[in-house]
Amino acid sequence: MTRVHNFSPGPAALPLPVLERARDELLDYDGRGMSVMEMSHRSPEFIAIAERAEADFRELLGIGDDYYVLFLQGGPTLQFSMLPFNLTERDSVADYVHTGSWGTKAIAAARKLCRVNVAATSEDANFTYAPAPADWRLTPGAAYVHVTGNETIGGVEYHDYPSDLGAPLVADLSSTLLSRPLDVSRFGVIYAGAQKNIGPVGLTIVVIRKDLAGRARPATPDMLDYLAHAKAGSMMNTPPTYNWYLAGLVFAWLRDLGGLAVMAERNRRKAEKLYAAVDASNFYRCPVRDADRSWMNVPFTLADPALDRRFLDEAEAAGLANLKGHRSVGGMRASLYNAVPEEAVDALIDFMAAFERDAG
Ligand SMILES: *Cc1c(COP(=O)(O)O)cnc(C)c1O
Repeated sequence: MTRVHNFSPGPAALPLPVLERARDELLDYDGRGMSVMEMSHRSPEFIAIAERAEADFRELLGIGDDYYVLFLQGGPTLQFSMLPFNLTERDSVADYVHTGSWGTKAIAAARKLCRVNVAATSEDANFTYAPAPADWRLTPGAAYVHVTGNETIGGVEYHDYPSDLGAPLVADLSSTLLSRPLDVSRFGVIYAGAQKNIGPVGLTIVVIRKDLAGRARPATPDMLDYLAHAKAGSMMNTPPTYNWYLAGLVFAWLRDLGGLAVMAERNRRKAEKLYAAVDASNFYRCPVRDADRSWMNVPFTLADPALDRRFLDEAEAAGLANLKGHRSVGGMRASLYNAVPEEAVDALIDFMAAFERDAG
């Protein structure tokens, strides 16, 4: 068996110890004679798995009792619509901070349901920076302020969040949640798809302050109502049980490693050494403003785009997979989620130096 260094933006690499444990428990979970996939979601075994996962997740992020944690489906893309269904009326204004492609989609979805004010945008600079909170032009009385914490495609990340905006701060943290400690109390709602740092695709985690659930528009289907999900313990219908179990294994892995502060140190080192290698060369270039560079997704271009194909082919041959940038921006992108070990980043940096010597 050969496992490559996997820089996929998502669905992304999973921690090897998690995969090994899932393999060991696949045919017979804890002496039950069946896989977790084959159990009722109402069984005591699965209820214990689900509760353990939620407890570990809450502990990792220090989430208080004043928040619900929901395990949902539909991806962050469904959250783009579910949010305004729950937190706005037709004539409400929601403020959106626009820093890239995912923000564009979130704004388009909200516009169908309420009024949207783009409070700040970096579109003028091709989404290569994150406008400072002091420069957000907020609407008095806004239903919420939405930010994409890390733009997965452009590699632009907010490294800090404001505390008192006057309206609940809502964040799509799909590609950054669990990469470092977070002060959850600054947020009204946080949502994240699992396929970056949490587990396999198919699960979406929503953290919502309890007073913000229960405000859905009267015509909102129950399946889109946060409070209905909270009351049903995220089991209004059959939840994605196996994904929930695998996410639980990832949380236990993080806990055993020492939690998010330890993970943050690793992630900082990984990102800093890759950006340093890019900046030190005249052959590679990262367009994102220094202060807003993502720890999770590092986009970079080659001096000559005609070499892109060769770079990707040779990287692949060297065991470095999924480095192609998003089709909307081109170039390369290395995603350095929690499950990508430091050795993978070292191998990438060595490869880049060798490629520059040969081709540059
Ligand atoms: C991956 C991602 C999404 C979309 O996830 P889906 O599962 O395709 O809905 C949304 N926002 C961000 C920030 C992402 O990284």
